[in-house]
Amino acid sequence: MAYEYRPAWMEIDLGALTHNYKQLAKHYGGTKMCAVVKADAYGHGMIPVARKLHALGVDFFAVATIIEAQTLRSALPNVDILILGYSPVEAAEVLIEQNLIQTLYDTEQGEVFHIAGLKYGKPLRVHVKVDTGMRRLGFSADKTGIDAIEALSSLNGIAVEGIFSHFARADETDTASVHAQGQLFITVLEALSNRGMTFKLRHICNSAASARFPEYYFDMVRPGIVLYGQPPSEEVALETLGLREVMCVKANIAMVKSVSKGDGVSYGHRYHLPETMNIATIPVGYADGLLRGLSGKAHVLVGGEPCPIVGSICMDQCMVAVGEHMPKMGDEVIVMGGNAHPLVSVAAYAKALGTISYEITCQFSLRLHRRYLE
Ligand SMILES: *Cc1c(COP(=O)(O)O)cnc(C)c1O
Repeated sequence: MAYEYRPAWMEIDLGALTHNYKQLAKHYGGTKMCAVVKADAYGHGMIPVARKLHALGVDFFAVATIIEAQTLRSALPNVDILILGYSPVEAAEVLIEQNLIQTLYDTEQGEVFHIAGLKYGKPLRVHVKVDTGMRRLGFSADKTGIDAIEALSSLNGIAVEGIFSHFARADETDTASVHAQGQLFITVLEALSNRGMTFKLRHICNSAASARFPEYYFDMVRPGIVLYGQPPSEEVALETLGLREVMCVKANIAMVKSVSKGDGVSYGHRYHLPETMNIATIPVGYADGLLRGLSGKAHVLVGGEPCPIVGSICMDQCMVAVGEHMPKMGDEVIVMGGNAHPLVSVAAYAKALGTISYEITCQFSLRLHRRYLE
């Protein structure tokens, strides 16, 4: 296969994934886990990641879209798959046929799903979503919303199997917002229970919340980013969980040369060498996901030492100042991840770009072949 000759690739450490899963399972103390594998498992590859987690005992997964759900269904015929996002009513039949669980947050949508379920002869499985503060999807957490949920749960064409909500600020030091949302969720559940409505699966915790607030576990937690060994934020670093980075981007050096003091490097010559030194050219660029905004702000590990990326990152390549070192063409370098060094961690890349670790792992492109390590 030609990709074996591409001197840049991504390694996905399924051993690290297993380690993270076990650490988290211990932390959650037996609470059911819904593994969030949307966006191709945050850029790690949904199918191999989900297969591994399934082998470890996970039987409930969440994705964002119906296409992701169908792809996962083709690999794992017997697991529960919750679609967290919007699916148009036209998708009803596919949802039923593929045994998918749809998030429901709108009365009209629910009524059409109900009719589709009756027509199909099998109810469409749904989890009802309540908006307790995120202001994204969900029925309002008040009488109007509760009335709507009550009305929908009497429809035979849909099977309301769960109810959930989502925290907006679980990754911050200040916990006031989490408690406000958590308490509001409890209030809604109590109001529904007073009307005789109970739900098999109640859930609200994402990674950050499930690491910190066992009082809001209910029946299930929905970790995503932590499974991949990344902290949800700088504020919630979760060092005590001992998570390991699952993703690692590697490359072989394309060329090494001595460049003179004062010479400009890369497009626009935006960087000039303060002294004569060796420059290594790495065959990874912004088309691979090494975003151009990282120019001059990130490091690459050469011979175990963090070396700065200098000059503008190109589409397919970038240049790294290796100082006195003289690595050879073909030498392996770690571009990012793999717990190799704090300066090349996903978190360091995120910080350099002023973004979050999620965006970093998600945007590495498929031009980098993924190698799965057991
Ligand atoms: C993405 C997502 C999650 C997982 O979030 P992490 O911060 O990665 O744990 C959980 N729930 C919902 C509704 C989501 O959209």
